[in-house]
Amino acid sequence: MNYKYLKSELEELNKFTKESFEKLQLGKLQDRLKYHVKNNLWYRNFLEKYALNIKNIKSIGDLQQLPLLEKEHIIDNFPFSSVSEKEIRRFYQTSGTTGKPKLIAYNKHDIDRSAQLKARGLIFGGVKEGDKGIAIMAYGPWASGLMSQQAGEYIGLTIAGDAKLDTNWHIWAIFSQYHPKYIISQPSFLVRLEEIAKEQGIDISTSPMERLFVCGDMSNNLFKKEFEKRYNAKIIDLYCCTEFGCISAECIAGNLHYWADELIVEIIDQKTKKLTAPGEIGEVVVTGLYKEATPLIRYNTHDLSFLVEECECDCKLPAISPILGRGDDMLSIAGANLYPRQIEDMLSKISGLSGRYQLIITKEKFKDKITMKVELEKEIEKNMEKYLKKSIFENISSIAPELNYVINQSKTAHQPNVELLKFGALSSQGKIKRVIDKRR
Ligand SMILES: [Zn+2]
Repeated sequence: MNYKYLKSELEELNKFTKESFEKLQLGKLQDRLKYHVKNNLWYRNFLEKYALNIKNIKSIGDLQQLPLLEKEHIIDNFPFSSVSEKEIRRFYQTSGTTGKPKLIAYNKHDIDRSAQLKARGLIFGGVKEGDKGIAIMAYGPWASGLMSQQAGEYIGLTIAGDAKLDTNWHIWAIFSQYHPKYIISQPSFLVRLEEIAKEQGIDISTSPMERLFVCGDMSNNLFKKEFEKRYNAKIIDLYCCTEFGCISAECIAGNLHYWADELIVEIIDQKTKKLTAPGEIGEVVVTGLYKEATPLIRYNTHDLSFLVEECECDCKLPAISPILGRGDDMLSIAGANLYPRQIEDMLSKISGLSGRYQLIITKEKFKDKITMKVELEKEIEKNMEKYLKKSIFENISSIAPELNYVINQSKTAHQPNVELLKFGALSSQGKIKRVIDKRR
């Protein structure tokens, strides 16, 4: 397995049609189901509870007959494995902000294939053989660092790893010693790296970096716009998680193309759990066709996205939108469903704004009301204020038309309740609470 092989694999996939992907997926799904039902007693019982016979899975559409898998199933049934304990080579762990950690068993095959798929993401994002990169990620028990290191090795990308997450070392490695073209990291580490560089009098935009691959926690357009400028480098999202490793990579049009030869991605409605139409936001459900150690069939990530029917780029792999948040991030205001990520993306498209904002939701006389405080990038003329408010208002209305009505209930008739603040007004408050919901 090397750069040439993974590159040609990607090129071959780009010749596929929707039908040929579905044919390939169905064959692999049927085989994988047979395998897990034979080797995993828990999964066999799980399907029996739903009176399901896998012989009835005769098309990709039949996948929906299978029950959704939730993280509790994995946590409560450790080691949740279809291979013998001695075949398990690693457990990758989720950082688990609440409750018990979730451990995902990987055998040798799963470790290798998931790293190859991460390598595919790097190639998709423009990495060339023989280039140098640096992984600023935790090295275990989380998947990110180890998987990035292995992915780099597959494609001849030299990776300088660092288990201690020592930012001073990163700065030294980037500027004095190693001069990498790529960073593979999480958005939060990029923020810290830039801050520390600045403290040391180093302008990070003078670094040799060309591309910053981010995974782990979510980036958004605001973050990208700002940090692409600060680093003078392109930011590319790799949608990754502990269960599957790299699921997809961001294309030039900003969508996430997923590895449809090894995974099936469905988007389901949060309430009904039925498939959504392209463009409709729902939960991302992933089936791992290559997974041997764990029966990750219809695993509900609870990440939010929507199917992209036709991406503007020329990649033939199917695409979903960037991750909009987690199911529990959703704001329900006056009947409209809205996600903070949508607001951030909307503000990033309007010039003259710093990107910092605060949304205050109150309830008056049983009605939801929104006040939006938005920080300006610099001082502006009075007549520009009117234009910017109008632009913000129109953009909110386009992502959630129902809010048009709510915003218009502000004190001044026909004036949206948008307050423009001087640059620094919100940033001087330290970490900004983006949404203040006073209805609770
Ligand atoms: Zn695309």
